[in-house]
Amino acid sequence: MPEIRIPAELLPLDGRFGCGPSLVRPAQVDHLVAHSVNVLGTSHRQPPVKEMVGRIRSGIASLFRAPDGYEVVLANGGATAFWDAAAYGLVERRAQNAVFGEFGSKFASAVTTPWLEAPDVREAPAGSIAVPEPVEGVDVYAWPHNETSTGAMAPIGRVAGDPGALTVVDATSAAGGVDVDIAQTDAYYFAPQKNFGSDGGLWLALLSPAAIERIERLDASGRYIPETLRLRHAVENSRKNQTLNTPALSPLLLLEAQIEWLNEHGGLAWAAERTARSSSTIYRWADERDFATPFVGDPAWRSQVVATIDLVEGVDAAAVARTLRENGIVDTEPYRKLGRNQLRIATFVSIDPDDVSRLTRAIDFVVERLG
Ligand SMILES: *Cc1c(COP(=O)(O)O)cnc(C)c1O
Repeated sequence: MPEIRIPAELLPLDGRFGCGPSLVRPAQVDHLVAHSVNVLGTSHRQPPVKEMVGRIRSGIASLFRAPDGYEVVLANGGATAFWDAAAYGLVERRAQNAVFGEFGSKFASAVTTPWLEAPDVREAPAGSIAVPEPVEGVDVYAWPHNETSTGAMAPIGRVAGDPGALTVVDATSAAGGVDVDIAQTDAYYFAPQKNFGSDGGLWLALLSPAAIERIERLDASGRYIPETLRLRHAVENSRKNQTLNTPALSPLLLLEAQIEWLNEHGGLAWAAERTARSSSTIYRWADERDFATPFVGDPAWRSQVVATIDLVEGVDAAAVARTLRENGIVDTEPYRKLGRNQLRIATFVSIDPDDVSRLTRAIDFVVERLG
């Protein structure tokens, strides 16, 4: 029995507010069950699975209104594997990394390798954003669209750098919940366990013709590239609706269901409107409370998919998160390494905006009783 019991009318109908893995809609699970016999346990080299992968690829292309020539590529390993693959197969000599949190920082580490020049790291403190700037000799400009560790969101636009320089955006927590002009990017990549409500383990990317040309050229250059991280394999297998080695099939089914749901409801514009509505509810609530402040000071940088809210010293955020958890509202703890007295709340597209309102009332109830 929880010490503080939140009344039922204040409880969200679904208590999952984590930033990944994140809420999986029951309809996604129904889709998984419906295809449990014709897809699960069958060969990934045969039509049922290949056709599903084909629907995922074309569904992503239409969701993001992919410009002509862009290709949807997927492979095993999650966003973290994409960073290593990019270090081998997308960065030619030097990357510039805008870093304003853990995920951006991890990509900067991944491109710090013996075969590349040290990356040009543009760092800004957590809670703000760093922006890329043109530098001669930089051939990849990289930053996260949404920094999940801090709840800061950056604009997406090409850098007027050297001809041929690529714009490479980590969209893991933004994709599917934030609108974007893909033509402003060469690689817009993500793992599907955030807005897509799938399971981890995969990465997907929308790649421009320039990115594909770079991948093919570096692959042929004689640079050593481990087989599982070879982007050329990812491109060529994806064209055949396959992956180099066996993919997990359940996450593909969950992903397929989410892509269909998004496309049926009006695509990215609809999704972005919904996540903006949810996140505004939280930011407005925090502005109105003496005990809460949005961590990201500049409203223009506040994420519409991951809201981070600092609590005043007298209110222990860990105790709030623990009490919420005891009442079935889970994963509102802040990013572990940020080390702040904070709640972090996902407002991904699957999360019902009405549940976000209920959550704010539940937090009020808990804070009042924690004293
Ligand atoms: C979750 C996340 C990642 C890590 O994804 P994995 O699939 O665990 O590798 C990377 N970047 C961002 C922005 C994320 O939110």
